[in-house]
Amino acid sequence: MLADLHSHTYFSDGALAPADLVARALANQVDFLAITDHDTTAALRTIDLESLPENFHLVPGVEVSCLWEGIEIHVVGIGIDIDNVALQTLLSGQQALRRERAEAIDMRLQKAGHTGLMRYLDELPCEAISRNHVAQFLMDRGIAKSKDDAFKRFLGQRGKYSAEAQWCPIPVAVQALRGAGGIAILAHPNRYGLSNIKLRRLVSEFALWQGEGMEVSFSNIAPDKMSYMASLCEANDLWASTGSDFHDPKYQWMDVGRFRHLPALCAQRAIWLHPGWPGHSVSISP
Ligand code: AMP
Ligand code: MN
Ligand code: MN
Ligand code: MN
Repeated sequence: MLADLHSHTYFSDGALAPADLVARALANQVDFLAITDHDTTAALRTIDLESLPENFHLVPGVEVSCLWEGIEIHVVGIGIDIDNVALQTLLSGQQALRRERAEAIDMRLQKAGHTGLMRYLDELPCEAISRNHVAQFLMDRGIAKSKDDAFKRFLGQRGKYSAEAQWCPIPVAVQALRGAGGIAILAHPNRYGLSNIKLRRLVSEFALWQGEGMEVSFSNIAPDKMSYMASLCEANDLWASTGSDFHDPKYQWMDVGRFRHLPALCAQRAIWLHPGWPGHSVSISP
């Protein structure tokens, strides 16, 4: 059973078209693939479900950017009804915040003599503008040396051109995802740079707000970190999720379906044992 429940296409900051992501997942023996673009579900509508092999299950999903105590936290929803009006209203708002943030970055870039960001972004196929796109623009223009350099010097907190977005609070995302019939999962908990005390508080508040799962195994997480995630999952009675967070074939440490098995501590709380597990009842209207 290989369930990759976190992946991106070019409708957000991934490199691949949805059909190419699905082909890559099939080639990597993935049984369940959730496409979870940042703040958009547009990719799901482009896939011909009839063309998929019977033993392969596409799970509709999304990754919502949230703000918690001034820190950007990501909540993944899987098994959502992508026609749910309240969820799509939330996602439209998030997409607007992404555009406004890009415009604020553009203003700063213009003041420094670098024009053309918005034109560059408008030519991309994405529906949710990401700082990843802005980082690529900075690299193409020779302003940044690499993506890391772009985030460190220009786009990260205190970066020269950085701008913040007022993402929705975590409980708002959880309620919207659950209201759309989905399971809300705290994404990559160890990637927020939190102290252990703060991370423990985040996970317990997420559970209090009726989040149901957390990612325990994901690309390149070290075994000791994964064990720690498993203990947090257990302590907060959450379901354990797995996913690559695949973006781009260039990043070979983050490929579709490539992550460790859940540790034994979590085997009984694997997300595919959840009573609302969506894998077998996916339908996406055209
Ligand atoms: P955004 O969601 O638009 O704020 O962009 C954040 C995205 O940029 C993340 O989801 C990552 O895919 C990507 N990213 C890549 N490298 C970095 C980095 N060094 N720091 C922050 N984000 C990064
Ligand atoms: Mn991303
Ligand atoms: Mn994320
Ligand atoms: Mn992601």
